[in-house]
Amino acid sequence: MNRAALPAGLAGLALLHAGPAATWLPAVRRATPALAGVGAAGHVALTFDDGPDPRSTPRFLDELGRLGCRATFFLLGEMLERHPELGRRLVEEGHEPAVHGWRHVNALVTRPGRVTREIGRAVDLVSAVTGVRPLWYRPPYGVFSAEALAAARLRGLRPVLWTAWGRDWKASADPASVLAALGPGLRGGATLLLHDSDRTSAPGAWRSALGALPELVGRCRAAGLRVGPLRDHGVGRAIRGRRGPETPERADHGGTP
Ligand SMILES: [Zn+2]
Repeated sequence: MNRAALPAGLAGLALLHAGPAATWLPAVRRATPALAGVGAAGHVALTFDDGPDPRSTPRFLDELGRLGCRATFFLLGEMLERHPELGRRLVEEGHEPAVHGWRHVNALVTRPGRVTREIGRAVDLVSAVTGVRPLWYRPPYGVFSAEALAAARLRGLRPVLWTAWGRDWKASADPASVLAALGPGLRGGATLLLHDSDRTSAPGAWRSALGALPELVGRCRAAGLRVGPLRDHGVGRAIRGRRGPETPERADHGGTP
């Protein structure tokens, strides 16, 4: 997404802040499957970013309930603060809350110290509102800074991105385009990225993801794959034993929701 592009004057700052880091996701996925969210072969993780949003999140919860499917929701603190009832509802209905940050900002253009405070604040709010301590952190735009990574780990969060996305943030997106975008990556072990809010997307774009859900879940199940949250995905198990450091600092692939 263009809005993820760094302002030209900040590009140098970003490099200083993050270190040499401009790796597109396919390279990261090869190098760090745990960071990309590669999980168990018989399971597909369903994840939603940017909520909770009273205009759209309830529709997703209704549909997931109808489908008998659970998911992980990467929540924004400022949204959850305004709509705590949605955080409570998603946990009551078996979904997993996770941290997307406090505001939807690129960590590379944030003043030092701020991301640390905001991640901590978001963890505390998610825990207080839902009663569940979040396990996962996915930064806005999928962009990690060294500070964000350190802050997440300090709070016990595992960084995770995704292996396939639905490009559901575009104004032109519809259920068919979302399914087409996800299609090549729809396999066991995948972590799928969708959005339950248009907070940072084209207005109403969430309808494309919502409309894709029945077919998406149906295709997975027809292939013998279970669909569920990251907590059930077995992220990292496949690579245990051949220890390799996760290097999310190098995960800046510049241009995602
Ligand atoms: Zn986002």
